[in-house]
Amino acid sequence: MTLLDILPSLRYAATPRLDPAIWPLTTGVDAQGRITVGRVALTDIADEFHTPAYVLDETDFRTRAQRYREALRGTEVVYAGKSLLTTAVARWVAEEGLGLDVCSAGELATALAGGVAPERIVLHGNAKACDDLRNAVDVGVGRIVLDSSMEIAYLAGLARKRQRVLIRVTPGIDVAGHRAVATGVCDQKFGFTLADRQAAQAAARVLATPQLDLVGLHCHIGSQVTDPLLYGEAIRRLITAMADIRHAHGVVLTELNIGGGHGVPYVGGDDALDLGALAGVIDETLDSACAAERFPRPRLVVEPGRAISARAGVTLYRVCAVKAQPGGRTFVAVDGGMSDNPRVGLYGAKYTVALANRHALGPTMRVTVAGRHCEAGDEIVRDVDLPADIHPGDLLAVAGTGAYHHSMASTYNMVGRPPVVAVRDGATRLLVRRETTADLLARDVG
Ligand SMILES: *Cc1c(COP(=O)(O)O)cnc(C)c1O
Repeated sequence: MTLLDILPSLRYAATPRLDPAIWPLTTGVDAQGRITVGRVALTDIADEFHTPAYVLDETDFRTRAQRYREALRGTEVVYAGKSLLTTAVARWVAEEGLGLDVCSAGELATALAGGVAPERIVLHGNAKACDDLRNAVDVGVGRIVLDSSMEIAYLAGLARKRQRVLIRVTPGIDVAGHRAVATGVCDQKFGFTLADRQAAQAAARVLATPQLDLVGLHCHIGSQVTDPLLYGEAIRRLITAMADIRHAHGVVLTELNIGGGHGVPYVGGDDALDLGALAGVIDETLDSACAAERFPRPRLVVEPGRAISARAGVTLYRVCAVKAQPGGRTFVAVDGGMSDNPRVGLYGAKYTVALANRHALGPTMRVTVAGRHCEAGDEIVRDVDLPADIHPGDLLAVAGTGAYHHSMASTYNMVGRPPVVAVRDGATRLLVRRETTADLLARDVG
């Protein structure tokens, strides 16, 4: 019997409360109180690869991909690579039977290098460069999602054989009241609006272009969406638009891509989009909307990014300094910040943090975890309770950093970007090495 068995209250204090809704699926705590992911102690990763470092739970990522396929049978799942993409991640995606969304030549090259079949790739972008389009056509991507009239003309000139395309429409669904970042409303840069017939005109133009094979419509209503009914509304509006196209041109489109944006929790109590509920809404709405328009049921496609990649990731930071400002907050300064996590500054994002290298015994204190960059707003987590004896050298783990962290990292202050380290079944694998000062200087050719 250990001390911890005798003193339940002490055990409570000794085990960081790691909310399974927030932390990677394989997260645990070992006998020394160290947080483990994939049966690897995070301190071992910090020792070997140094900090800051992105840790990826391969099991978490693959399991979430599998859950999508199981919950949404009959629906094609296309992973949004912009949330997190390396060649290994692309391989996991392909192995789990998902398609892959890309929005640049770099993402496309990464997907191909990871072994993703070109026909399973969808190309997005509201301002695709001519080179991006040429490249995509040359490698034979499965779908290109058209976002402007200019692009229709460009693509017609580039296509050697008939290219399958979708038209991106903005269905005018306001998700702003739903803790989401809105992209499906009219006054923004993406897509063709349904309301004033821009989408109908785009469809007419594409249908009149023999090099382009219009297979369907696409929309993306926003991000961090937790209400599945919003997707039902999108389906209804797009089926109506597809019926209008049939009426005007006698063409039946067979594909309906409702985008991604599925919400995930970052702190305890946050909602997530429920996959079972989404499956139900998709089924019922497709049935009723298609029946109402007497339209044949199209193949449905979803494009989750964050919902597959976010919870697989944890960022490790070393504590550099602890500073109690007289009359102000207590700051725990760490060796990373806005260069590896721009979401706090961009969106006011909230995170969950835990001490990762030892038992968190004793009292706690309220602190702000601050980054290392020369910017007052460079904070990672504000007003969080951490052990009062936290000190330089301690290791902090921040959860929910799989999506839009590695992919959005910068080199602000000439700080090299962190490595990406995958863990699985007790083994670590370096996926992306740390960016060095030599890497940064190598680009400076002046
Ligand atoms: C960003 C994006 C996604 C993925 O968004 P998540 O919030 O990561 O699910 C899917 N489709 C398109 C077109 C996007 O722009």
